[in-house]
Amino acid sequence: MVADQLRPRGVADERVLAAMGALPREAFVSDANRRFAYADEALPIDAGQTISQPVMVAKMTEHLAVRPGDRILEIGTGSGYQAAILAWLGAHVTTLERQAELIPTARARIDALDLGSVEIREADGSVGDASGAPWDGIIVTAAAPSIPDELREQLADGGRLVIPVGTRDRQLLTVVTRKGDEWLEETDGYCVFVPLIGAAGFDG
Ligand code: SAH
Repeated sequence: MVADQLRPRGVADERVLAAMGALPREAFVSDANRRFAYADEALPIDAGQTISQPVMVAKMTEHLAVRPGDRILEIGTGSGYQAAILAWLGAHVTTLERQAELIPTARARIDALDLGSVEIREADGSVGDASGAPWDGIIVTAAAPSIPDELREQLADGGRLVIPVGTRDRQLLTVVTRKGDEWLEETDGYCVFVPLIGAAGFDG
């Protein structure tokens, strides 16, 4: 996966590559999908959701520029794989999931790998988590119709928000960097995520 999918697509951050090489993606998919765990694609998980494509996990993690000790908010726990990668990199991760049924499985998978600091909570994360702000980084692993103001406000100075923004069918991977009271926006190509559903997301 690292050699065939990630390096050829330009993922260059050696720490991100090391995290993805070290953590077994197969531990985050169902038994039926285990043999496809290293395929170059998103895979179905419970509740009609997906574990993201490996190259997308790598790119988003690279854009977050995680340093050990950073406090990172993830929105869309899903399988728990992205949260596990962030924890492996030394982040203190809080991850929010609106589908309660996904949480026990994600919790068990992360605990089995003995990864440090991951808190998982059931919540509508489309408005972030003001109680834990400011966040060094916020990663939204579901498609948003626009960048929620709440997420911009909850970023620390210098912090980054990585979020797919667009329609339900297609989005632009967007990176927002806060510099004081300015928010710089860049994009990094198209992507396809399941919808962010909630107050600052799409209707359910
Ligand atoms: N990061 C996940 C990918 C999850 S897919 C992984 O590594 O496997 C996106 C997830 O976002 C789904 O589980 C979906 O239920 C969740 N989601 C959608 N809208 C949400 C919201 N408003 N708050 C929290 N989670 C949300």
